[in-house]
Amino acid sequence: MFKFIICATLLLSSSFAWKHSSQDSWGEESPDCNGKQQSPINLIPADAQAQNAQNIQFNGYDIQIPGNSLILVNNGHSAQLNFNEQTSNLTITGGILGEEKYILEQIHFHWGGANGRGSEHTIDWKPYDLEAHLVHRNTKFESVAEAAGKENGLTVLGFLYEQRSGLLGYNSDIRAITDRLPIIQNEGNTARLTTRNFITGRNFPADKQTTYFNYAGSLTTPGCSENVNWIVFDRIQGIAADELRKFRDLKTSDGDALVDNWRKIRDLNDRNVTLIKTADNFKIIPPRLIVPQQLNSIRADSN
Ligand SMILES: [Zn+2]
Repeated sequence: MFKFIICATLLLSSSFAWKHSSQDSWGEESPDCNGKQQSPINLIPADAQAQNAQNIQFNGYDIQIPGNSLILVNNGHSAQLNFNEQTSNLTITGGILGEEKYILEQIHFHWGGANGRGSEHTIDWKPYDLEAHLVHRNTKFESVAEAAGKENGLTVLGFLYEQRSGLLGYNSDIRAITDRLPIIQNEGNTARLTTRNFITGRNFPADKQTTYFNYAGSLTTPGCSENVNWIVFDRIQGIAADELRKFRDLKTSDGDALVDNWRKIRDLNDRNVTLIKTADNFKIIPPRLIVPQQLNSIRADSN
């Protein structure tokens, strides 16, 4: 009986000691990693199905959160910023999400050991230097673990970054996070942000994007659960060289450099990728004057 319980626990948590360097064998321990709807994928704007949609409603993305309520952790695989439902209730709903409501749980990053690689998604086969994932769970579920794999369980927003020099790089607002990376160099280290007011939508301007890729994929680390609704913004963000260096200076549990924590591109198989243009993009109607006679004819037309 005792043995059975241990086995069941291991199966549920898929807590085997996986590494990005041995990702080709993840499927042996986590069969979902060999699934047909895996992430990341290469995104091809010319092949994506264009579609208009209403805006997603971002709630709380413009609100100041006290930095010390946000906890940054080196979990050995990434740097992750954990949101606390009590202090920061950021949700997304509407648009392509319909009635479903998702809450922001955490933001983490993928990066390379050198420039020219690091992102998980690629656009026209071009990798970028860093990718941020904003992981949202459907409020119907209690935790990401519970939502993982369920229909409409998780929505992840992805931002791609490239190194930019001078002001273009220094405009990067994720500095509130990167400035704290040196104190979480080792696995298990945590730090609170020191910024007094963290505005999520300024640091990660998801609420200001008007086009994005959308497809059904998976988590990109074991257990690779599918049914993840992916939204990847096509506008590339800038990041400074010294910020990228702080990511690359982090360490894994073995004390090695925590770099190249990205998964290789998976086959698209039979999936559709849509390129969504939101209402802000298509609903720009020129203002016009309506005089009473025209009003009557409009009313007649609409009958
Ligand atoms: Zn990720």
